[in-house]
Amino acid sequence: MAEIQENKIQKILKKHKLRKTACRMTMLKLFWENQFALTPSGIEAMLNNFFDKVTIYRTLSTFEECGIVHKVPNDNGITHYALCHSNCSHEKHSDSHVHFYCQLCSKTFCLHEIRSPELTLPKGYQVKDFRYLFLGICPNCQNL
Ligand SMILES: [Zn+2]
Ligand SMILES: [Zn+2]
Ligand SMILES: [Zn+2]
Repeated sequence: MAEIQENKIQKILKKHKLRKTACRMTMLKLFWENQFALTPSGIEAMLNNFFDKVTIYRTLSTFEECGIVHKVPNDNGITHYALCHSNCSHEKHSDSHVHFYCQLCSKTFCLHEIRSPELTLPKGYQVKDFRYLFLGICPNCQNL
């Protein structure tokens, strides 16, 4: 692990008042290195089963509570997670960007720079969550 990266990861944990554990460090690094959304079983496989599923799930929910990762919509029903921008916190997530699912490599990407439009629903519809998911082919798969 490169030193600068380890510093960066430690800083994130510190900022969110999380104790430094091997699993948290490793998973943050993984999120950092892969610019697409990850699934719990994907993480488990990428780490060669070094950490068990329970630990991975627990770490993901801690990260989500702290504003480090957010859930990413996916059309196959499996929950994906991706890194938040630094403006998310323990109190509030502010990930109002759209996501893109590549139908060739099955990766989901956060398009942080594209804000999802704010729509007002008809009276009586209480919104708990909303998702903007675009489907198509990512730049990598088009060799762009
Ligand atoms: Zn967030
Ligand atoms: Zn792709
Ligand atoms: Zn996202």
